[in-house]
Amino acid sequence: MIEVKNLTKRYGNTYAIHNISFTVKDGEVVGFLGPNGAGKSTTMNILTGYLSATEGKAIIGGFDILEQPNQAKQRMGYLPEVPPLYLDMAVEEYLNFLYELKRVDLARGPHIKEICDLVKISHVYKRLIKNLSKGYRQRVGIAQAMLGNPEVLILDEPTVGLDPSQIIEIRRLIKKLGEKHTVILSSHMLQEVQAICDRVIVMNNGRLVADGTTEELSKLLLDNRKVILRVDGPKAEIHKLLQGIPNVEAVNYIGMKDGIPEFSVEAKEGTDVRKQIFLRLAERQWPILIMKPTEMTLEDIFMSLTGDGKKRRVKS
Ligand code: ADP
Ligand code: MG
Repeated sequence: MIEVKNLTKRYGNTYAIHNISFTVKDGEVVGFLGPNGAGKSTTMNILTGYLSATEGKAIIGGFDILEQPNQAKQRMGYLPEVPPLYLDMAVEEYLNFLYELKRVDLARGPHIKEICDLVKISHVYKRLIKNLSKGYRQRVGIAQAMLGNPEVLILDEPTVGLDPSQIIEIRRLIKKLGEKHTVILSSHMLQEVQAICDRVIVMNNGRLVADGTTEELSKLLLDNRKVILRVDGPKAEIHKLLQGIPNVEAVNYIGMKDGIPEFSVEAKEGTDVRKQIFLRLAERQWPILIMKPTEMTLEDIFMSLTGDGKKRRVKS
């Protein structure tokens, strides 16, 4: 288990992170989601002992990262934002070098082979790292993190800079690793944490703004309160009809799309007006060509989560 208590990191007068607390249970796959500058890397660097906190504690499997760093570090493998690769080394040399550096006590040959098979780099084992694609370099970075078979893997933006097919491969790999490890990964991409993680911790401006299951976050994102509507009929009359539906708070005419008027309709919090929209328009024989929830962007989510400036649990 990982326990983070009131972590704060200050640079002069600015806070990189501010009073962050959370726990991660064994076997969980947790995503840190947040835009650039949110404090994800800072939190990970403190967790892994690369950076000291101004205040607060991080405890890994019962060991305080400051007081018992060796025991704590043995339990974690870390892939930093910029993987620490030596480009002029072959994969083989690099992994053997790190095996020694980390003083791993598992039988060398079988252990390294097992990792290489798992992350699928066995066929490039003799190649120089500089001659590998970015996707393969990232695999080597993950292999490095797995030396010593740590319980916890901490992966900082593991898919950044990869092309779409490499992203899919790395996500698949991380999901697989999640079956046997506790994983914390960071990302600024919503779909990524949704695709990989059981739980999401949302960070913004150095603060933890939400913590909940991926399902809870998805519900929050699918905001049926605000729908986009394209209706084949007379613009002004449709507008008026929509405004007259109970619980509709605002109707905005967006414009003509392919000669058909499009609106956004916002309902009162906690209500869903879609059925009424359908029934009323059907009465008038104005067919709905499109009705879809507006997609919340990451920015919208942060706005809604940080609106009251407090941490809250993700609940729809
Ligand atoms: P993320 O990984 O979510 O993009 P970071 O943890 O890298 O965010 O950064 C969080 C904040 O801390 C940013 O505003 C960044 O500018 C600031 N920060 C990080 N490192 C330093 C540093 N060495 N000196 C001053 N400010 C820093
Ligand atoms: Mg970062």
